[in-house]
Amino acid sequence: MKTPLIAICRHRLATDGQGVTTLVAFHGCPLCCKYCLNKRCLMPDGIWKEMDVEELLNEVMVDDLYFKATGGGITFGGGEPLLRSTEIVHFCQLMPAEWNITIETSLHVDSRHLESVAPYVHQYIIDVKDMNPEIYRSYTGKGNQQVIDNLRWLAAHEDVQKITIRLPLIPEYNTESDRTESRKQLEAMGFCKFDCFDYVLR
Ligand code: SF4
Repeated sequence: MKTPLIAICRHRLATDGQGVTTLVAFHGCPLCCKYCLNKRCLMPDGIWKEMDVEELLNEVMVDDLYFKATGGGITFGGGEPLLRSTEIVHFCQLMPAEWNITIETSLHVDSRHLESVAPYVHQYIIDVKDMNPEIYRSYTGKGNQQVIDNLRWLAAHEDVQKITIRLPLIPEYNTESDRTESRKQLEAMGFCKFDCFDYVLR
């Protein structure tokens, strides 16, 4: 089956994941964030290319030596990569064993997607946005119970050192004290690595 993509970006260094990485960005996302930077992933005509797993592996194989020499690999983002869990698992079963896999996700997906890719993931970057359900709903258009359930699953089943939680300050939606509250709740769940930053509106 062909998977819709919005981009493949090569030779990324220190952006996410260790070593040299290639970002594979999927089309499609269950959320509708007000300040989404990747609006293409939400638009029906935003698809750049469609590839099956073998074609995707062929495409990114060009950097095999870089990945192996630097401890890098593939970062799956989007859009929401976990919506493509079947393709990611298939890809990981075919790729060279030395590659590292990073997933950039909102976790706003059914838990079966997360549980199926987890055995292959070396690092997670989780865009939690805000733990307050009302703030989350007003910013994304959806509730965050699924995200919280998936965070609990990760805290129970994964090494938390593999997980970085993104906590943005979102103009007009949350405040520094909302973010402090989110962080407190996440620390109580066992998470310890946070990336706190501000959205800058242009
Ligand atoms: S989760 Fe990410 S890709 Fe999806 S709408 Fe929000 S910012 Fe955009």
